[in-house]
Amino acid sequence: MKTKYLIPVCLIILSLGSACAVNPVSGKQDLVLLSENDEIALGRETNKEVLQQYTVYDNPALQAYVQNVGNKVAINSHRNNLIYRFTVLDSKEVNAFALPGGYIYITRGLMAYLKSEAELAAVLGHEVGHVTARHSVRQYSANQLTSIGVALGSLFIPGMNQASSQLAQLFGAALLRGYGREHELEADRLGAEYLARTGYNPQAMLDVISVLKNQEIFEKEVAQSEGREPRIYHGVFSTHPDNDKRLQEIIGTAQTLTETAASANYVGHEEYMAYMDKLIYGDSPHEGILRGRRFFHEELGFSMSFPEKWNVTNQPAQILLTAPNGDAIIQISAEDINKKLTPRNFMIQRMGLNNLDNEATLNINGLEAHTGVSVINSNDGPRPTRFTVIYFGQRAYIIAGTSKLAKNLSKYDKTILDTAKSFHALTENEKVLAKPLRLKVVQASKETRFSDLAKQSTLESHAESQLRLLNAKYPEGEPRIGDLLKIIE
Ligand SMILES: [Zn+2]
Repeated sequence: MKTKYLIPVCLIILSLGSACAVNPVSGKQDLVLLSENDEIALGRETNKEVLQQYTVYDNPALQAYVQNVGNKVAINSHRNNLIYRFTVLDSKEVNAFALPGGYIYITRGLMAYLKSEAELAAVLGHEVGHVTARHSVRQYSANQLTSIGVALGSLFIPGMNQASSQLAQLFGAALLRGYGREHELEADRLGAEYLARTGYNPQAMLDVISVLKNQEIFEKEVAQSEGREPRIYHGVFSTHPDNDKRLQEIIGTAQTLTETAASANYVGHEEYMAYMDKLIYGDSPHEGILRGRRFFHEELGFSMSFPEKWNVTNQPAQILLTAPNGDAIIQISAEDINKKLTPRNFMIQRMGLNNLDNEATLNINGLEAHTGVSVINSNDGPRPTRFTVIYFGQRAYIIAGTSKLAKNLSKYDKTILDTAKSFHALTENEKVLAKPLRLKVVQASKETRFSDLAKQSTLESHAESQLRLLNAKYPEGEPRIGDLLKIIE
């Protein structure tokens, strides 16, 4: 949940006329529905939505570094007439994506897994490749914005913000899962070419793919053990089952480029690692920090406890908790209080909840609250839903829970209500726990082993594997003397 709430956004409707345009990369005619000016306008508008969904990572020096590296690659691309904007997003997700017209984003979550400037340039070069080959525009033409199912709650709750799904609908699969095998390969090939032309070693493209492949293998294992969907970087392997063949193709291309560009050998390991020191890792303090089952939001000043084994998805506008078998869902969100209403009247007037049943006016840890059950229309049909509204500061916190099957609410009602009742103002002691984890760069000595680093780490689970992944030593590697390593404090 983000401190700054989303404001409803209106999707732009572009006047569409089909046209043929010369593809900047292939030089051939493409049937596209957008002119270059339309394409740039679409990027500009979508950028506004991205910035509502995500927080820009608060480190001007890092932002300037990424922009500078991106510029160097973009100037050597097929579309160097465009002005490219490279933005580091404050997200733990491992992702990078490009909008039409040259808006490119990389998450700090992905940056943590890279070890050199050349690898950063490889990620940015891949994304520049999507822009230069006009993949999103070609995709747009092919799909005409078919709506894509994204793992958002299928719960419609009156009075709640639905904006978070709009971005996903706009570029759905393309942003989140990549553009499909052919376009991804083309972006890798173009990225490697731009690396070589810029003076970076194109081997970095292979290193990035290996690092992300390992991260994906690990993420899939962890997700399976936690009974949730894996979170995967968009382009790598989610839609390409034949991993090895793809890697071989990339190797072939990159090696040819190395021969023709013998001077392309800049790596920039030390330069990059300097920016990794103190980088936030995992949950962001802007969105709240999960420690075990306890959730802390320093900026909003509250804490809650979540049910054991339930899956937690922290989105900008809401937190979703899903029962292990997907049988029930709890949605936590907040709205400004603008009128002097009781929590009960807020439920009726602001949220439009009528026919409240099973009601009670509550005092939750000193806070004014009201709870009741009301039937709402979900995507699966009418569902009795337990609502609790808690007043804290100038906001109403809304905890809504329902079950997949209408008859099962009674089974989950206590858990839903207990979750709401755990809401409390952050205590002084808890403020320490609300601080984010950060990377620290250290130099390995002769004795440094990942098992020892894992014991000293504040990571709650899979510490040894995580540290290996962060240092490109997964699954079995050990540091060599003098290596710069990222550890987590
Ligand atoms: Zn891609």
